[in-house]
Amino acid sequence: MKICIGEAEYNVPLMIADFQNGGLKKFYKSELVDLAELPKPDRHLIRKNAYVTPNAMQATRGCVHSCAFCSVAAFNRYKMRTRPVDHVMEELKTLGKYVLFMDDNIILDNAYARELFRAMIPLKKRWFSQCGIGIAEDEELLELAAQIGCRGLFIGFESLSEQTLSAYSKHCNRKRNYRDVVKRIHEAGIAICGGFVFGSDEDGEDVFENTLQFLLESNMDALQSTRLTPFPGTPLFDELDKEGRIVDKDWSHYDFFHVVHQPKQMSCETLDKGTAWLQQQFYSYSNITRRVGKAFGYLSSETIFKAMLPLNLGWRYKLTSYGAFKLGNYFQKSGIN
Ligand code: SF4
Repeated sequence: MKICIGEAEYNVPLMIADFQNGGLKKFYKSELVDLAELPKPDRHLIRKNAYVTPNAMQATRGCVHSCAFCSVAAFNRYKMRTRPVDHVMEELKTLGKYVLFMDDNIILDNAYARELFRAMIPLKKRWFSQCGIGIAEDEELLELAAQIGCRGLFIGFESLSEQTLSAYSKHCNRKRNYRDVVKRIHEAGIAICGGFVFGSDEDGEDVFENTLQFLLESNMDALQSTRLTPFPGTPLFDELDKEGRIVDKDWSHYDFFHVVHQPKQMSCETLDKGTAWLQQQFYSYSNITRRVGKAFGYLSSETIFKAMLPLNLGWRYKLTSYGAFKLGNYFQKSGIN
């Protein structure tokens, strides 16, 4: 087995050269890539059906925060890098109208985000990205994002509990009014996919119902809910491993669909079924229909039909294929809820 550690841009050319010379090494370990040196991707090689969109790119990478469970921060060594704005613009001009930024938090460097967003004004794109919760409090940046075509943001809310956020070291989300965050972003005409994680030491069995209630009442447009997954290399993994609470070290199970650690206030089975139940409820046809109906009050029909509805149906399809809907039924029947 040959192992490539770190980002691909520096490693893969070396691996190919060594392969061509018949001398592949066992390990390739890369320094963090300088984003000014990123090669231009040859998009003709992309198998379009294999991705949500081939029009995906990055303006920034990494995050300076240190949330205990986060593999992004650990992988990027708790640093954030930005790509020269003119490079981003050059690539953006080669893409279609709809663009997906694969950044970890596109507004983390506020000054950079403003520079990039202003440069994007003439492009008239429609774009989506991951983003920090702080955008809701920066009225000017939020308006600018909407003006240049931002139509959907993925935001990692993680938990409704202050104790859980504190335990995760997710300080950037603390003491925020999540309902207000959703409302302000909706007022800008932007849809939100909320990320929530279940299985912290502070989570009791009522966490699923409480979170569902918030999601439905706040009109969250889409949901990514995951079982807490302590990836190796993160502070969370070290802590749980020390406590002997990692119950599964088959790395193929570290996919957010398996429970691999022993929660404190519920069984592994409850965490598994409770997360599935929440997914089943949130993506029921009746809730999707209700959500879409309400969304006409704050999102454009283009955003609803091009992004929100396909995302909801896509998640429903994916979760059904993974058996989440069946598992969710079992949670209810078991009487835990
Ligand atoms: S969870 Fe988000 S805020 Fe926290 S370290 Fe990861 S990318 Fe940064």
